[in-house]
Amino acid sequence: MSANRVLVIAGSDSSGGAGLEADQRVLAAHGVYALTATTGLTAQNTLGVQDIFVVPSEFVRKQINAGLEDVGADVVKLGMLSSAETIDVIAETLQTHKVPAIVLDPVMISTSGSQLLPEKAIKELRTKLLPLTTVLTPNIPEALLLLKDSGAETPEPTDLLGLIELAKKICSLGPKAVLLKGGHLPLTKEKKISQEPKEAAIVVDILFDGTTTTLFETEFLVSKNTHGTGCSLASAIAANLASGKDMIRAVRSAVRFVEVGIKTSTDLGKGSGPINHFH
Ligand code: PLP
Repeated sequence: MSANRVLVIAGSDSSGGAGLEADQRVLAAHGVYALTATTGLTAQNTLGVQDIFVVPSEFVRKQINAGLEDVGADVVKLGMLSSAETIDVIAETLQTHKVPAIVLDPVMISTSGSQLLPEKAIKELRTKLLPLTTVLTPNIPEALLLLKDSGAETPEPTDLLGLIELAKKICSLGPKAVLLKGGHLPLTKEKKISQEPKEAAIVVDILFDGTTTTLFETEFLVSKNTHGTGCSLASAIAANLASGKDMIRAVRSAVRFVEVGIKTSTDLGKGSGPINHFH
């Protein structure tokens, strides 16, 4: 019997809530085998990131090659990439190994405000990795940073239609599909961006694959335990694709996985704790 395999190329979160540690738990919860290539180590806890050690890009190359030459991967999931040099190495090695599918979570700034990808590496990510990507999963601030300086016009969304336009603009940068995560701009019942926190009723995640737009609506959840939700969502999508689900089913199931994970989380630490990955 052969296993479904995902290679995770990402950073380690010493607090266990995000990054590689979360990715591996999500993949285990989905019954999928995880290989890893570590791009950086963070010293962090639920209150924030204290320091980052960037793994030299040539060592990241060795990890990727070692994994793909032997065990191989059905899907590669990319998270915190740490440097422009590492992005170049990833683009090169993934093209050489012709991996079937790539899920790219364009991690740039942590919820606690730390820069996890230097600003000068954003252009590298846009030009080298987006054209190789099967599904890109930006949140709204990441989507706006990817569009900045790209030459494409940056829309200023005020409602759901504006967010759909933003998803389409991002898709024109090269990925086959985009899942624009709406959690940073929750909507009112009338699908306008809520100006007051108490008006926030729903979150809409928008999947655009170049032709079709699919909306995933969830209730807006107020919780401090949202650390690592982006990593977990992208890993759940990668696990579902590796298990043979089509894109819409893979995303629908992953959105639900994270929603239940937030609802059933238990408090850990003094700050923003992790979601529950085993439910
Ligand atoms: N640390 C690492 C290593 C990560 O990969 C990420 C996110 O992908 C984070 C921290 C940030 O997580 P959050 O923004 O959920 O706090």
